[in-house]
Amino acid sequence: MKDKVEILVVEDDAPIRNLIMTTLETQKYKYQTASDGSEALLMAVSHKPDIILMDLGLPDTDGVEVIRKIRTWSVAPIIVISARSDDRDKIEALDAGADDYLTKPFSVEELLARIRSTLRRLQYLESQGTEEIALFENGDLTIDYAAATVKLGEEKIHLMPMEYSLLCLLAKHVGKVLTHQYILDKVWVNALESDLSSLRVYMATLRKKIEPNKGQAKYIQTHIGIGYRMVRIEKN
Ligand code: CA
Repeated sequence: MKDKVEILVVEDDAPIRNLIMTTLETQKYKYQTASDGSEALLMAVSHKPDIILMDLGLPDTDGVEVIRKIRTWSVAPIIVISARSDDRDKIEALDAGADDYLTKPFSVEELLARIRSTLRRLQYLESQGTEEIALFENGDLTIDYAAATVKLGEEKIHLMPMEYSLLCLLAKHVGKVLTHQYILDKVWVNALESDLSSLRVYMATLRKKIEPNKGQAKYIQTHIGIGYRMVRIEKN
């Protein structure tokens, strides 16, 4: 990663843009701003930001459209910050390629927490380089892809093939919210809407096996009505 993290702030509402800018300044993050979709695309191309904060209601183009366009050539994490709180809007943005979302009004602490977790994920991806990853490690969780085995600490966890596929998919996108439909498309062949209930069942059995504390989500977060995310756990 570059010495200094660069963040592109796409927001047409000046007071909110100022709030975000002030927040980023407190952490010494470098940033650029854009107040509409075409400016956002221009800035994304010219500055190659490390993270993009994206409003959806923009004066010229819909933010979701901007995300789709950016995704045709960039993998930079995109955190949506939007007043749209409907699940369908969040799902649409995530499926267009957003990594995370924050609903307005948001707290600056929450925004900074999302940025930090995105940076952890970037650092992790960078540390993996371009080599084929043989081992996935997150907290006490280890996936050995070659042996197709999963361990929690030293304990070997026995997963059913479907649970293993789900875990690998979440691990591959660690830190990112994956929508139900995305997961179904990747893991189920010919996914039907009705498969959502079986996804929930497999996810529940998977979590029973890998979550160390009953009923407490450490590795896999549920986003009700939207999907799931594997949380990147910081090393102690
Ligand atoms: Ca707006």
